[in-house]
Amino acid sequence: MDIVELKTWAKSAKGEAIPLFHSFDLATIENRPHLVMIGGTHGDEPAGVQLAKDTLNYLKSLDNNLCAWSWTLIPCLNADGYAQNERTNGNGVDLNRNYPSSNWSPESKKPRYFPGNAPGSEPEIASLVEWTKKYPVKLFVHFHSWEPCVVCTGAPARPLAQFLANSSGYPLQDHIGYPTAGSLSQFGWSDQNIPVICTEEDDNADYKTTWDRFGPGLKKLLSTPCPYS
Ligand SMILES: [Zn+2]
Repeated sequence: MDIVELKTWAKSAKGEAIPLFHSFDLATIENRPHLVMIGGTHGDEPAGVQLAKDTLNYLKSLDNNLCAWSWTLIPCLNADGYAQNERTNGNGVDLNRNYPSSNWSPESKKPRYFPGNAPGSEPEIASLVEWTKKYPVKLFVHFHSWEPCVVCTGAPARPLAQFLANSSGYPLQDHIGYPTAGSLSQFGWSDQNIPVICTEEDDNADYKTTWDRFGPGLKKLLSTPCPYS
């Protein structure tokens, strides 16, 4: 099975295409667990997009039999924000507050965290949620930048998150440190028991070199069988 690129599975708020890559045949059920990797949720965090692209290039070079997971990779979920170097999407919504989690809240402390008018209101999130319902997920990994850390929401995935903490030298945490209603970690772990790993590259680091820090850990994660059922 070759890697397939889909350009029409989702559109941004402003109608832009959002490329998605997958390693598995959509018509058959794979026996490998499904890993979903997401870059560019926040459009002003180029380190996350760079890391997702470098991960994709690595996967393209890898014999698929050596990968322990079937996977989906979205290099840049927030195409609108990325084009404008803005955190939010074309509707001014923070996509990591718009997931239809049970604790979604219409409140936000600052405009940059605006969660949208309803849970899952944004086309980027609605399409991603639909994708994960069609192809059940075992692990989410999303790539960000902020203060350097690796956040693992869901203890079963901690051994995998540890690979990323080890290779980057960044601390492994089980919480980002502030409430994030409507985030992927709430939608994944709190609502569905699907662990979520979030990498936060150092905002002060050269984003082009993010792979140097997280690449070795990602390679290890991709070759390690899922440690939970
Ligand atoms: Zn972010």
